[in-house]
Amino acid sequence: MQIPQTTSPTHFIRQIISNDLSTNKNNSNVATRFPPEPNGYLHIGHAKSICLNFGTALENNGTCNLRFDDTNPEKESIEYMESIKRDVAWLGFEWTELRHASDYFEQLYQYAVELIQKGLAYVDSLSAEDIRLYRGTLTQAGKESPDRNRSITENLDLFARMRAGEFADGQYVLRAKIDMASPNMNMRDPAIYRIRSVHHQRTGDAWCIYPMYDYTHCISDAIENITHSLCTLEFADHRPLYDWVLEQLQTPCHPQQIEFARLQLEYTIVSKRKLNQLVTEKHVSGWDDPRMPTIAGLRRAGFTSQSIKDFCERIGITKQNSWIEMGVLEYCIREDLNVNAFRAMAVLEPLRVVITNYPKDKIENLEISNHPQREELGKRIVPFSKTILIENDDFSENPPAKYKRLSVGEEVRLRGSYVICCDEVIKNADGEIIELHCSYDENTLGKNPEGRKAKGVIHWVDEASSHAAEIRLYDRLFTVPQPDNEENFLDVVNPNSLQILNSCRVEASLKEATLEHRYQFERTGYFCLDSDSTSEKLVFNRTVTLRDSKE
Ligand code: ATP
Ligand code: MG
Repeated sequence: MQIPQTTSPTHFIRQIISNDLSTNKNNSNVATRFPPEPNGYLHIGHAKSICLNFGTALENNGTCNLRFDDTNPEKESIEYMESIKRDVAWLGFEWTELRHASDYFEQLYQYAVELIQKGLAYVDSLSAEDIRLYRGTLTQAGKESPDRNRSITENLDLFARMRAGEFADGQYVLRAKIDMASPNMNMRDPAIYRIRSVHHQRTGDAWCIYPMYDYTHCISDAIENITHSLCTLEFADHRPLYDWVLEQLQTPCHPQQIEFARLQLEYTIVSKRKLNQLVTEKHVSGWDDPRMPTIAGLRRAGFTSQSIKDFCERIGITKQNSWIEMGVLEYCIREDLNVNAFRAMAVLEPLRVVITNYPKDKIENLEISNHPQREELGKRIVPFSKTILIENDDFSENPPAKYKRLSVGEEVRLRGSYVICCDEVIKNADGEIIELHCSYDENTLGKNPEGRKAKGVIHWVDEASSHAAEIRLYDRLFTVPQPDNEENFLDVVNPNSLQILNSCRVEASLKEATLEHRYQFERTGYFCLDSDSTSEKLVFNRTVTLRDSKE
C-alpha cells in the first residue's frame, strides 16, 4: 500500500486561492463555510470538507462559518446540530460565526418576491408527478407548465398566500423561470419553494413554506460574504443554477463555487442516509458505535483528531473521485499513537501461571520503562508475585519448530521481569489446561546471565493486582471494499465485526486509565477506555492493531 506524503504542498484549490490573492480579488479576503445539513452525524467524508474549509481559512488568515443547512425540518434535529458542533470543535476548529439557513428565511422570501417581480419565478399548480413528467429527459426537452405565464400580480398574490398557509402541502410550488429546454436538467425551471406544514426546530410554526437547497445555498453564501464556496463534485451540474440565482438578484456578493472529489473510503459507507439505516435497524449500537465511520464513532474507537487531520491532509484534494484504502487511515492513527500512547500490559485471554519457587507472600514492585521517545508514557510500577496471567496462546503443549513462546521444559522472558521455565501443565478431569507450574530464575531480573538467552518475550499481568476488563475488538463493518456499489449494502454487513472478550485482565496502572488517553497494550494493539466502563469492570476498545496484518 502506498501511503501518501504528509506535505502535499499545494492542490488546485490552494492554487486558485493564491491566484485570487495575487490579483486582489475579493479585496484579498478568504471566507469559507462548512454547510452541513443537521440530518445525521458527521462522517469521515465531512472531516475532509471541514479540514479543507477551516484549513483554507486558517492558511489565509480568513474566516470560516459553520452554517446549518436546516431547510428540511422533517429530517433534522437539535441532537444532530449539537453533535455536529461537538465534532467540529473536537477536530480542533473554531468557526468564525455559527449560522443557520433558517436565519435567512425572511431574506430568502424577499429575494423570491424579487424574482417574481422580475418575471423570473412563478407559482405552479402542477402536481409533483406532473412536474417530473414535464421536465423531459436528458435527450428530450421539457414541456412548459400551463402556469408558466401567470401574471406577476397573480404570482405575488399566490406566493403571499402560500406563506400565509392558505394551501395544502404540494398544492403549489414556486419555480424559477429559466429554460425548459436547457441541456442541464437543473435549469429546467427548478422548484425553489414548496409548501410543508411542519414545525421547524428553530423557527417553530412561523413558516409553512420552505426554500429548496439550491436556491438557499447560494443566497446564504452571498449573505455571509463567502468568497470560495467549496463543495463536492456532484454539485458541478448545479453551479449554473447557483450562478443564475445570484446574477438575477441584488445580493451582497457573488461567491465562486469550486468542486472537489468526495472522500470514498474502502470497507465503509459515507452516506448519512445509509448510516442512519445502520443505526435505526440496529446493525450497530448507535451513531457513535466504534465501527461507524462517523467522527463520533472514530473518536469512541480511539482515533485522535490529529490522526484524522493528518489523514485528510495526506489524501489531498483533487477533482477525481477515487477510493482510499482503510490502511491509510490506520497508518495515520498508528503514527500518532506510536508516539503518544501510554504503554501497558493486558492479557486478553488469560492462562494462570504459578511460579512454584517464588516466595508465597512476596510482592515486587517492578519498574518498567518501555517508551523509546517519551519516558513519561512508558515508566510505571508493575507488581509481580507468585501467580501471574499470560496470554492463552503464548503457551503451546505441542510447539512447532522454532517456537518462541512458552512450552514445557522451555524458557521465556516475562517482559520487564524474570525468565521463567515451564515445568508442568495442570489439567482438569476433562483434560483442559487450568494452569501452568513454572519456575523462575532470580538472577534474570532485567538481564540475561552469561550463556542464557530466553528465546522470546511475552507479556503478563500479576493476578492479584490486575483489574478485570472487557475488551472489544473491532473489524471492518463490511465484507467488501465498496459496499455502496452493492444492490443492498445491508447484505454485506460483516457479521463478525465485533468480538467481545469478557475475562481480560489489565495491569494495575490502568486502574487510572482515562477517556482522554490512549494506550498501547504490549503486542496486542492500541486501545482506549470506553465510556461503558464501571469501577468493577473497565471496558477498552481496540483502535487498531500494532501492525497492518492485511498488507
Ligand atoms: P451525505 O451523503 O453524507 O448525506 P451530504 O453532502 O448530503 O452528505 P451535507 O451535510 O450536505 O451532507 O454535507 C456538508 C458538506 O460536506 C457539503 O459541502 C458536502 O459536499 C461535504 N461532504 C459530504 N460528504 C462528503 C465526502 N464524502 N467527502 C467530502 N466532502 C463531503
Ligand atoms: Mg447535502
